[in-house]
Amino acid sequence: MTCPFCNIPESDRLLETDLLFGFFDRYPVSPGHFLLVPHRHVATWFDTTHEERAALMGAIDDAVAIITSRTEHRPDGYNVGFNSGEAAGQTVMHFHLHVIPRFHGDIDDPRGGIRGAIPHRRIYEIEDPP
Ligand code: 5GP
Ligand code: ZN
Repeated sequence: MTCPFCNIPESDRLLETDLLFGFFDRYPVSPGHFLLVPHRHVATWFDTTHEERAALMGAIDDAVAIITSRTEHRPDGYNVGFNSGEAAGQTVMHFHLHVIPRFHGDIDDPRGGIRGAIPHRRIYEIEDPP
């Protein structure tokens, strides 16, 4: 199967450097959902170089600047991260960093955020001290 990210048209690449590019997710979790990918087609974070990692981390700020300038909504928060491997839910095997805007009230109780990777473990209760 051809890689959708290797085929993102230039016109959709709102951010591009020698190491990476960024674009809006086609099936967004929330308005402004943005993806950052290295030019090199590698599957996971663990296949990226230190230079790519530094560039990807640095580009989070640029992604947020694009999101806030291009979407009508002003996010109240963000979930940022990646799924690494099919077991973790990765569906496109070209590494990508999700930058997902979050809004007050977008779900009833947002506590736990990315802990929701295992939905029934998202919210935890602090144990009473002994
Ligand atoms: P994963 O499940 O691998 O962590 O995330 C893949 C992401 O890629 C999903 O959020 C999905 O909506 C997005 N996606 C899949 N195909 C395309 C595409 O052709 N174009 C864009 N812009 N996003 C895509
Ligand atoms: Zn690719």
